[in-house]
Amino acid sequence: MQVGAPVVVAGRLGVLALHKDDGTWNVKLDDGTVANVPAEFISMSANSTKEISSGERRGLASWAPAGARLVRAPWDETKPEGWTRFVCFSDTHGLHDEIPKKHRPAADILLHAGDFTNTGELEQVESLNKWLQAYPATEKIVIAGNHDVTFHEEYYRKTGAMRFHHGCGAYDCTKAKALLTACTYLEDSPTEVRGYRIYGSPWQPEFCDWAFNLPKGAACRKCWEAIPMELDVLVTHGPPLGRGDRCSPGHRAGCDELLAAVKARKVSVHVFGHIHEDYGCSADEVTLFANASTCTEGYCPSNAPIVFDLPPATELRKATATAAAASRSPA
Ligand code: MN
Ligand code: MN
Repeated sequence: MQVGAPVVVAGRLGVLALHKDDGTWNVKLDDGTVANVPAEFISMSANSTKEISSGERRGLASWAPAGARLVRAPWDETKPEGWTRFVCFSDTHGLHDEIPKKHRPAADILLHAGDFTNTGELEQVESLNKWLQAYPATEKIVIAGNHDVTFHEEYYRKTGAMRFHHGCGAYDCTKAKALLTACTYLEDSPTEVRGYRIYGSPWQPEFCDWAFNLPKGAACRKCWEAIPMELDVLVTHGPPLGRGDRCSPGHRAGCDELLAAVKARKVSVHVFGHIHEDYGCSADEVTLFANASTCTEGYCPSNAPIVFDLPPATELRKATATAAAASRSPA
């Protein structure tokens, strides 16, 4: 039994909050009450598709299977000692300066899951860099999305410049990445921050001939094979199949190969965007999935950032391994 594990007590759902000196567990129940319960009255929750609301229920955190702690707006709850707070944005589409001030909570690590411009305008990249510089987070990690066309040089030369900037002068896309000085830019590459292994990738299954498109199937699978097997937080622009990928006409646009890669690696947290209209969080037995799209379907940057706390990396990995083992064993 691990702090953060979803449990059932007398038919009610909750999470383990604290192991007390007298051997009982302090359990926070989903109905808002707290109880001290002897271990024999606690069963592990088999709820495999627990939806975690990212709504504005004031001051209440909830736990994901691997021990990530989702913090709700207005994010005034302090993080547990030794933990790390993440704030996630995505799909800001050049509108970062219009994100409400109340939606810019301080954090240790900021993640941006791509589509930070409309069509790769270097002015918007420069402006984003200033916004990042001023943001109250110690570390900032950014990936590109299909709209950030000047970040995909080969695509921009072949298609993007003509399609989006014909007549107004194409950009020199060799400058695009150099403008991002206030963050770590990841493109099919890993980084390690505060002990967490983080990997970022802009690719997605083909979508209306935009940047960073790959044919479905083998090409996507090959791309995801490059994701390290040892990983804590994955940031991609597109969602995996079945998580935050429901388009407004009703179909799902997520990548099945990406879902398989996430499951194979037992990733603790997967952050993405792209499908603005399916913003929000959910979890399976192991992974917290966060569609952090800041812009709505109508391109208004009004969705609140997704904020979560992670325990120290070694604790996180232990909790993730425990959750993965529990999901394999019969109930
Ligand atoms: Mn977008
Ligand atoms: Mn997109």
